[in-house]
Amino acid sequence: MSADRITLALSKGRIYDETLPLLQAAGIEVLEHPERSRKLILPTNHPALNVVLVRASDVPTYVQYGGADLGVCGKDTPPPPPFQPLDLQIARCRMSVAVRADFDYVRAVRQGARIRVATKYVAIAREFFASKGVHVDLIKLYGSMELAPLTGLADAIVDLVSTGNTLKANQLVEVERIMDISSRLVVNQGALKVKRALLRPLLDAFAQATPQARAAQSAGAAPAQGALA
Ligand code: AMP
Repeated sequence: MSADRITLALSKGRIYDETLPLLQAAGIEVLEHPERSRKLILPTNHPALNVVLVRASDVPTYVQYGGADLGVCGKDTPPPPPFQPLDLQIARCRMSVAVRADFDYVRAVRQGARIRVATKYVAIAREFFASKGVHVDLIKLYGSMELAPLTGLADAIVDLVSTGNTLKANQLVEVERIMDISSRLVVNQGALKVKRALLRPLLDAFAQATPQARAAQSAGAAPAQGALA
């Protein structure tokens, strides 16, 4: 991690797409398109800022160990404390339990049946079902969770739902909403001290570009300060 450069870790897809307008609001343009370039380190028009493209679940690791100074990650992949996150309110979705339309989830829970649940988010699922006293066998999957109930691998899935179209296309129904999710900006605490002068304007620009801050500004409130000070 170089002292005169800052590195922002993003994952391709929704997080990248929805972070771009926040960067633009700070006057920052990424100079190469992630889908058209094979590069994993993308330059920007900010002389000190590079964007690195990593898997969504690796963003907290890069930030924690200083491979990146800051990153945007979902609430479902939180870094350990003391990374005080700033909720950017982008890539909003929810973490839900879904089952096949012909599976009587309410009855299975009421009867105390053991339910097989496939998910990538094992820790969140374990905590949720334990808090409800529902007996579950958790099966870890890395993708295409919707397939699990359709093939008989599991009775239910725990997955991210945005429009609900993927569930609908696979004849699955949402039966529990575990939590609302939006993406957060996390910052390496060492970088926050050592590179404060470089990071501060960027953090303030992010804080002022969130939908909530923009709504407050148009309602005449004072501009938001970065929450990561
Ligand atoms: P949708 O059809 O819009 O409900 O989107 C559901 C699919 O997109 C599922 O495969 C989810 O795993 C994935 N998904 C939805 N929201 C997100 C998100 N914020 N980040 C990553 N994957 C998501």
